[in-house]
Amino acid sequence: MKILNTILGAAAFAAAGVMATAAFAQTYPTRSITMVVPFAAGGPTDTVARLVAESMSKDLGQQIIVENVGGAGGTLGAGRVANADADGYTVLLHHIGMATSATLYRKLPYDTLNAFDYVGLVTDVPMTVVARKDLDVKDFKGLVEYAKANSDKVTVANAGIGAASHLCGMLFMSAIETPLVTVPYKGTGPAMTDLLGGQVDIMCDQTTNTTKQIQGGTIKAYAVTSPERLAIFKDLPTVAEEGMPAMQVGIWHGIYTPKGTPAEANERLSKALQVALKDPNIATRFAELGTLPSPEADGTPSALKAKLESEIARWEPVIKAAGQYAD
Ligand code: ASP
Repeated sequence: MKILNTILGAAAFAAAGVMATAAFAQTYPTRSITMVVPFAAGGPTDTVARLVAESMSKDLGQQIIVENVGGAGGTLGAGRVANADADGYTVLLHHIGMATSATLYRKLPYDTLNAFDYVGLVTDVPMTVVARKDLDVKDFKGLVEYAKANSDKVTVANAGIGAASHLCGMLFMSAIETPLVTVPYKGTGPAMTDLLGGQVDIMCDQTTNTTKQIQGGTIKAYAVTSPERLAIFKDLPTVAEEGMPAMQVGIWHGIYTPKGTPAEANERLSKALQVALKDPNIATRFAELGTLPSPEADGTPSALKAKLESEIARWEPVIKAAGQYAD
């Protein structure tokens, strides 16, 4: 009898679990969701996040509120999400820095491959090599000559070690075999303000932050890091054309949740992301900013997981060869 009661009890418990899961899947989300952006407001990751959050909110029927947690090249914000409740109400929108910081930091406050669940890929943004407007340099070759001749005083803005701007700057310095003076910010939004003000000399940053300024002539641009020239900047050579193929890099962005988030929440978020990736408004806004939404098939947990794993493996030897560590 006792055994029978135990079996019946276990079955009832399992059934209750299935019902709770089904109820969760039907009702999630019942309140607003926080999307942590690990860089300052007004920068490129923030811009991408706000556009996608707005579109996903419509499909989810609940607001996604962006919270900027900048600092330490994106690792502070990622750490915040790694330690958040795994309830589907906190997500992280991060970029390639999620992969590079796994090598750049020998000690991270989270285990990159084990602290997160995956929602999907968002976009892959090219970078531009830019400078303050009054830098007296005409083209990329001139920039290299200038940087080599003035290495002790040329300042390169970035968003801290682990940021995309840090990676791109590091690739530039490795290619010209000359270390330059780096100036870290909490994001390239504030770094752009200083570049516009002439307080720093050069920066490597996503088109999602530089396009308007390049088009407006408020900063100078020398090259793009994409394999092909960009439709919006036909005159800008690629880094490969300039003899630096090792600087070729795309800044892919993905959405994560804390490890242990209910699968139903991750699936619902992925579905909303896929809707956003097909949103004509996103396509238009992204095109104006020099990028494209990821294909719908990549707005999935498996696509993001595979990308993160392959990118950690891709950048580890490059970073180790450069001998650059944050700690
Ligand atoms: N573009 C920055 C980076 O270098 C991040 C940002 O401010 O969005 O990673």
